This record gives sequence, C-alpha cells and structure tokens, in this order.
Amino acid sequence: STAAVESTARVADLAMRRATLLHRAPLAIELGEALEQGQLRLHYQPVYSMETGALVAVEALLRWQHPTRGMLPPAEFLDVAEGPQLITPIGDWVLETAADQSARWQRDLGERAPRMWVNVSCEQFGRHHLVGLFKQLLEEHQLRPGSLGIEVTERQLARRMDDVESDLNDLRDLQVPTAVDDFGTGYASLDYLRRFTFDEIKIDRSFVAGLPAPVNTAIISSIIALGTSLGMSVVAEGVETPHQYDLLKALGCGFSQGYLFHRPAPADALSALLRG
Ligand code: C2E
Ligand code: MG
Ligand code: MG
Ligand code: MG
Repeated sequence: STAAVESTARVADLAMRRATLLHRAPLAIELGEALEQGQLRLHYQPVYSMETGALVAVEALLRWQHPTRGMLPPAEFLDVAEGPQLITPIGDWVLETAADQSARWQRDLGERAPRMWVNVSCEQFGRHHLVGLFKQLLEEHQLRPGSLGIEVTERQLARRMDDVESDLNDLRDLQVPTAVDDFGTGYASLDYLRRFTFDEIKIDRSFVAGLPAPVNTAIISSIIALGTSLGMSVVAEGVETPHQYDLLKALGCGFSQGYLFHRPAPADALSALLRG
C-alpha cells in the first residue's frame, strides 16, 4: 500500500540522516579543535579589472591545514560547520584574519592595497554580531572605508533573507561593500536584487564554464546588462581560458577572477605579486 511505501521511505530517510550525522559529528569536533589549534588558513585570489588589467581586489578563501589529510578546501569541511556553534567562531576568525591582512597591505602598499572580499554564511547574520564585529575591526585596524567587503551566496540568502537584509543595511551605513555570489544559480536571483542593491554581482562560474554555448552567452550578457543598469560591478568567476576571457570582455564584463590569472594562494605569495 501507499502508506507502507511511505513508511519504508521514511525509515530509509531516517537511517540516512543518522549515518550523515554520525559521520559529521567527529569531523565537527575535529574542526573545532582545528580552529583552537591554529590549523585554519586563508588563501587569497586576485580579481582583475578587465578594462585596465589592474589587480583591484582579492577574495579570502578558507583552507584547513589538516595534520594528516593535507590542505583541505571548504567543500571538505564547511558543511559540517553549518549551524551557529561552529560557523560563528570560524567566520569571526576569517574576518579577523582578513582584516589584519588587509591592514598589513594598506601599511605596505598604501593606495595600491587591494580591496579584500570575505565570504560569509547566513548563520553569521542577525543578533547584531556581524555588524558589531565589522565596526570593531574597521576601527581597530583603521581600515579605509570600502576596503573590506562581504560576499553572500544566493543559497545563503535563500535561507535567511530577512536577517541578512537588515544586517546588510547596517553594513551599508559602515560603507562595507557587498556582493551577491554564485549569481544565477539560486531560486530567486532577481528577487534578491529587488530587496537589496548589492555593490557587486559575481556571475556563477558554471555559466563561464559553459561558454561559448549560446544559452550561457545569453545569460551572461543579461546579467551584465542587469548589473550595469543597477549600477553594480559585474565579476566573472572561474575564468580558465583566454577564449573565455575574450568572450567576457566582448560582452562588457567589468572584472574577472580565475585560474587563468591566478589561483588562490597564501598571503606571502600575494604580497610578492602586489609589490610587483
Ligand atoms: P566562492 O566564494 O564562489 O569562491 C570561488 C571558488 O572557486 C573557490 O573555491 C576558488 O578556489 C574557486 N575558483 C577560483 N577560480 C577558479 C577557476 O578558474 N576554476 C575553478 N574550477 N574554480 C575556481 P574554494 O576556495 O574551494 O571555495 C568554495 C566555496 O566555499 C566558496 O565559493 C565559498 O562559497 C565558500 N567559502 C570559501 N571560504 C569561505 C569562508 O571563509 N566562509 C564561508 N562561509 N564560506 C567560504
Ligand atoms: Mg565568494
Ligand atoms: Mg562564487
Ligand atoms: Mg570567487
């Protein structure tokens, strides 16, 4: 009967959730220890102006220098950090580290210091925590207005748009630049733009990877037109080939980021590049 099938499906679903939790629990404990023991790292990936070729910004990307498994990307561990207990302290560490690095580059390079972008999870919004931390960091490090920005993915916006929106408005008062990340892959891409005017759109790299197929070209050129008419900067992510670069430039994309130019790298490597 239908009821029997549903009940079997429910049991299977529970078993799967239990297996996932059992797998996640040890990793979550290990990740908490990793934070305390200083095993987290930030790598930085440059963003370039397509008009001038200048390096204008860097994006901070989280890594875990795992004692036995090597350098792990976020896909290997960030999921287990979801939920406020872990993502809040990790997110705080990311912001503090990025702000500190940004201040160093400002001291070394003055006006030529790149803007720093940091990815944040929706769990970090609300409760006045994120806004308070930004205030503190901007003041403590005497960061130039606009030099530390945040990226939020559409997936994260979908989860808690109300809290996010109210914090984004407060962050705007602090002149913190905002970007909507992985644009075009969410469930309500256009609705987010209606509710909050971000400073920047980052075109999801799946569209760039899909070039030169006509559908991807059409989507990218629509996003560029939309962003431009709303006064937003448009960044293409995941640019890997000169051909993709040429197409994006021809479509009028403002900025680009990808392995073609530079992979994410530790601060030292970036410092050398920035000193040029
Ligand atoms: P994202 O913010 O969209 O970052 C871009 C991702 O694309 C990075 O992966 C980057 O290494 C990768 N990438 C850059 N250029 C290329 C390219 O040319 N080709 C390809 N195939 N990939 C490229 P990564 O570092 O593994 O990060 C994955 C995601 O994890 C990020 O996507 C972001 O959503 C999240 N993330 C990273 N750091 C943090 C963090 O500190 N906090 C939070 N909450 N999320 C983070
Ligand atoms: Mg990002
Ligand atoms: Mg992205
Ligand atoms: Mg990126």
